[in-house]
Amino acid sequence: MKERRVLVVEDERTIAESIAARLRAEGFTVQIAADGPSAVAQFHAGQPDLVVLDVMLPGFDGLEVCRRIQAERPVPVLMLTARDDENDLLVGLAVGADDYLTKPFSMRELAARVHVLLRRVERAVTPTPPAIRLGDIEINEAERRVRRDGTDVHLTPTEFDLLVHLAGRPRTVLPRERLLADVWGWADRSGTRTVDSHIKALRRKLGAGLIRTVHGVGYALELPS
Ligand code: CA
Repeated sequence: MKERRVLVVEDERTIAESIAARLRAEGFTVQIAADGPSAVAQFHAGQPDLVVLDVMLPGFDGLEVCRRIQAERPVPVLMLTARDDENDLLVGLAVGADDYLTKPFSMRELAARVHVLLRRVERAVTPTPPAIRLGDIEINEAERRVRRDGTDVHLTPTEFDLLVHLAGRPRTVLPRERLLADVWGWADRSGTRTVDSHIKALRRKLGAGLIRTVHGVGYALELPS
């Protein structure tokens, strides 16, 4: 798993140290900054995946830190605010904080919020696979849709998975046993007729020239020239 870095910006040393200790125990690499200017500098140098940011800081405050780091690169920010300071909270959210915790908070709660924020970001950046184009056939994996000449073609879930599997390795001969194992999850060789019948269905629906039979071996998806 990729190393994940958190920058903790807090001038109260004991709080900063406990946050850092908890996050290190959760597997994060943690850096601490104790004032506004060093927070911005360390953000730039350390490229953290998330920032835990106290509002009240020497130099310039956490809101200004948030403005400056967000201008450099979008990053999830968990803001720490003093109790009942609604104004800080609203400004914090306006300058790009994603979540906040009101002091005092438990380290368990802080760690939970950090995980939630990172998960949200990681989900958001997971790219949607682009549609695969094979001549007049378009395969959209995210929507599990196939179009031929712009018209939807109805495939069964297994036909769809088989097509995507073949399309992921165009021109490569895939043995029937391997297709059976990869698409159906069956390891034994008795079900290769199942592969044949699904290939037949794909040809009927998408055109005979799409998939080439390699006798005695398996199938390969042809790319239209
Ligand atoms: Ca502070």
